[in-house]
Amino acid sequence: MELYSTNNRTNTVSLREAVLRGLPPDNGLYMPTVIPILRTSFFDSIEHFDIQQLAFEVTKTLLSGEIDDHDLKNIVEDSINFPAPLVEINQELSVLELFHGPSLAFKDFGARFMARLMGYYNRGEEEELVILVATSGDTGGAVAAGFYDTPGVQVVILYPSGKVSDLQEKQLTTLGKNITALEVMGTFDDCQKMVKTAFLDADLRRTRRLTSANSINIARLIPQMFYYFEGYRQFVKIFGGELKPVFVVPSGNFGNLTAGILASRMGLPTERFVAATNVNDVVPSYLSSGFYRTRVSKRTLSNAMDVGAPSNFRRMEELFSADEGDGSTWNIMKKYISGYAFDDETTKRMMHEFSREYGYLLDPHTAVGVLAAKKCREIELQDGKFVVLSTAHPIKFASEVDGVYFNGQQPMLPESVGDLLSRKKISHKIGAVFSELKAFLLG
Ligand SMILES: *Cc1c(COP(=O)(O)O)cnc(C)c1O
Repeated sequence: MELYSTNNRTNTVSLREAVLRGLPPDNGLYMPTVIPILRTSFFDSIEHFDIQQLAFEVTKTLLSGEIDDHDLKNIVEDSINFPAPLVEINQELSVLELFHGPSLAFKDFGARFMARLMGYYNRGEEEELVILVATSGDTGGAVAAGFYDTPGVQVVILYPSGKVSDLQEKQLTTLGKNITALEVMGTFDDCQKMVKTAFLDADLRRTRRLTSANSINIARLIPQMFYYFEGYRQFVKIFGGELKPVFVVPSGNFGNLTAGILASRMGLPTERFVAATNVNDVVPSYLSSGFYRTRVSKRTLSNAMDVGAPSNFRRMEELFSADEGDGSTWNIMKKYISGYAFDDETTKRMMHEFSREYGYLLDPHTAVGVLAAKKCREIELQDGKFVVLSTAHPIKFASEVDGVYFNGQQPMLPESVGDLLSRKKISHKIGAVFSELKAFLLG
């Protein structure tokens, strides 16, 4: 598998280099030079596969021999070891639950696969690999669980003190071993700035093998294709093979949606994609106006989507310009993606309504998706069969939306979480200045 940088098509690297580097030195994003199409017999027999078999077929085709079958199978089976059930709500709408992994959000798919791929490529290296991540909550938990106990890898997570939920903080601070949580006396932006500075620091670069685990790493996009195939497999069981699903994706940095488009380029039958956002509506407003304007993000209930400059938009442009030749990127993208945005009040109303009508509890991110599905059906696709990607378990955000559900309904903590909440938090407090991070990393 060969990848190029979106800033220079002639800058190509192997998957190993793209995964270990994260970002190309020219500040573009890595994209596959070829997106292979799966054989049709694969789709004819898709009903007989399980999620691990689907994941293996997709990765094997995409990687085309880069990793031998036996090792690849281990990586896939070890990382994708939880289900992604499609729950049929009614004739028009189904919810694809992506929150059955250890951190209770869909980021487990990307983080676990990336961790195993990095561990694989890092074998035989003498020097430890140090993964630096800044998190506003969700990413850190998935990355921590994903890399836990990976030989030769240390993970250092920076999170803003007092600004993540209890459950999220426990996920970051209770694992121990190769996972260290730095509790930063500052904001998420401070954390992110400190991490960026670390990658540029000459002393650190000379003495430490640093890499990043954020959502622009191509190793996180590959496994995010898996659940689109798994969703389609179950869709066919319910609706038959004639219809194609409309995938609705609650979006922030647009890694999830980009992975969906990659899946469709590999041949997955899709009717359309719907980009669902909160008031941070850079992409929906681009789709309706043709003007792409990034902004400072606003804080909302669905805070994992509070993004004012979506990092994967560059990849989406790339996918829709390389495509058909004629017309502008905007014209082509509009044909495949619809965009809708909703505010917190509307989101809470939908969470209430859904719990009353179906007894099904939506987290705020998924509720934004359900709203977008309904709106799209109303004004664009009256016969559409909508599959809303559920990106988080409702318990993750329960404290922020206390009392929102009908009749006092409450999400239950899944058993898989075990005694997480009673485990002891261990964090290192540091000030929001780079020198303290540097001292820690060198110490
Ligand atoms: C990260 C996240 C999103 C946004 O996903 P992107 O790939 O960044 O668009 C949506 N919902 C939840 C719960 C998340 O954690």
